[in-house]
Amino acid sequence: MADPKGFLKAGREVAGRRPVEERVKDWNEVYPDGVGRALLPIINTQASRCMDCGIPFCHQGCPLGNIIPEWNDLGYRDDWDGAIERLHATNNFPEFTGRLCPAPCETACVLGINADPVTIKNVEVSIIDRAWESGNVRPQPPEWLSGKTVAVIGSGPAGLAVAQQLTRAGHTVAVYERADKPGGLLRYGIPEFKMEKKHLDRRLEQMRREGTVFRSGVEVGAGTLTGDALRDRYDAVVLATGSTVARDLPVPGRELAGIHQAMEFLPQANRVALGETVEGQIRADGKHVVIIGGGDTGADCLGTSIRQGAASITQLEIMPQPTDERPGNQPWPTYPMLFRVSSAHEEGGDRMYSVSTKEFLGDDDGNVRALKLVDVQFKEGRLVEIEGSEREIPADLVLFAMGFVGPERPGLVEQLGVELDERGNIKRANNYATSVDGVFVAGDAGRGQSLIVWAIAEGRAAAAAVDTYLSGSTQLPAPIPPTARPLVV
Ligand code: FAD
Repeated sequence: MADPKGFLKAGREVAGRRPVEERVKDWNEVYPDGVGRALLPIINTQASRCMDCGIPFCHQGCPLGNIIPEWNDLGYRDDWDGAIERLHATNNFPEFTGRLCPAPCETACVLGINADPVTIKNVEVSIIDRAWESGNVRPQPPEWLSGKTVAVIGSGPAGLAVAQQLTRAGHTVAVYERADKPGGLLRYGIPEFKMEKKHLDRRLEQMRREGTVFRSGVEVGAGTLTGDALRDRYDAVVLATGSTVARDLPVPGRELAGIHQAMEFLPQANRVALGETVEGQIRADGKHVVIIGGGDTGADCLGTSIRQGAASITQLEIMPQPTDERPGNQPWPTYPMLFRVSSAHEEGGDRMYSVSTKEFLGDDDGNVRALKLVDVQFKEGRLVEIEGSEREIPADLVLFAMGFVGPERPGLVEQLGVELDERGNIKRANNYATSVDGVFVAGDAGRGQSLIVWAIAEGRAAAAAVDTYLSGSTQLPAPIPPTARPLVV
């Protein structure tokens, strides 16, 4: 156990971000010199607050089942080598979750019942950043090869986790990615200011050295590599293609110029932030930007628009503003709906809640110039418009961040003939197998739009299932069945 009285002696303290006026002028992470370094002065004390409680609910809060009290204790004792070993035992990529996870482990922390929870996510990122700096994250190539081949389609966190686990188990794994570089949403969705791509590239290099082969710029199902060809060529196939069909808003004026999906805007901004040139880039400079949707994607559009120099930014959310305290129907240890302030929200923009967009209004050239809004409220379980509340707000760039409705059907999904579930995601059995023999699914493609931590957890579990399919048994850990939703609403 860390310090038995640690939680009585020290309060919660988190890594300090760079001043807003400094960080909005660049694309680097919002923490100074990397979050791990920012945490150096405080992290032992913060780790000491872990009570090593009899039933560590943080384990259930984390989809990966991270053994949190153990690495808190090792961090507190300055045994960072031991800590990274325990952390890597359940999480292939703690540098991603340590930066990007909403940390359902912290909302399940026992200390959080009546005090501020342990800064688990900060301890996690300290452990992994130190491990990289001290050369303690090495390739782990397999000792022998099974002779079996696996194709992983999609290189987001789910595909990467599947591939790393199966490569280490001795299978020959090729990861196909239609973008020019691997990483999925980690590379082209999530902005630099949340996670610099150097963290992704470093991990990809480790995977290459272990033997995973990456084939970027290949859209499987669009050329000669069809569903059938894939099944002929490989002993097993894992679909980790994500949930890429974005929700639309088919109201009058939708066809006007200047209205885009977030995933049209963010990938271009990410490329330009890394020094590429994008012809005809969608930009926010000098514009009145309206972001429709209040989640992570919306916050990423906000931080990006601020850095591009927008004149004003308004983020709209159809649901009511969440409360600062846990609502009664979302008690500890569940993950509650709270009013959260992301780093982007600290930087600027206005948020409007309980509003619905009725129409987009255009100018004579066919460009969007305003949104017609109406206030809404819940009545008998339904959202209804409030009479007389209609109004216009100026907008010359509108970004949709309203979530994703599932994987794309034309192409690979149709060619393979995998069944879909009632929500339009790829249907899977308890072992992540699809309805087609030898074809498995992991991450958002099967689960629906979710989180990085779930994608990694599913990737690990699917790898165990594929290993069993190929070898008859497995030594790989299988954290969760696909139906699991521990403590996370
Ligand atoms: P993805 O990351 O979507 O990767 C799927 C990959 O498959 C893509 O690269 C795609 O190009 C490729 N692909 C698809 N079809 C084919 C094909 N036919 N051939 C070859 N390749 C193909 N979650 C968090 O936990 N924290 C956050 O801060 C966070 N921020 C987010 C910000 C944005 C803008 C978005 C959109 C999502 C965010 N999420 C966040 C959610 C998280 O990124 C996803 O849940 C996660 O990336 C899903 O992983 P995945 O591997 O299943 O799919």
